[in-house]
Amino acid sequence: MVYTFVNKSLVKITPDNFNQEEQVIPLFCYLCKFSLKTKEDVSSYRRNKCCSLCELKWVAQKKDFNSILWKEYLLLREATNKPTIVFN
Ligand SMILES: [Zn+2]
Repeated sequence: MVYTFVNKSLVKITPDNFNQEEQVIPLFCYLCKFSLKTKEDVSSYRRNKCCSLCELKWVAQKKDFNSILWKEYLLLREATNKPTIVFN
């Protein structure tokens, strides 16, 4: 997919064989809503449509997403995803 200008208008050029569902990786995991950052996340997204941590800890083990463990997992992800730089 390429964007270019034609007569001062932005035009999107998409190849015939372009499949957005398969070739575009979203910014965020649809399960935990955290960003997809690593190449492992991309591989996991292509396999199971989620980040590598969700795949490893939840999808591969077929755990219940409605359990308290899922909420604890999200809180842990949030705690470990905080920026390391603190401005005072
Ligand atoms: Zn995730």
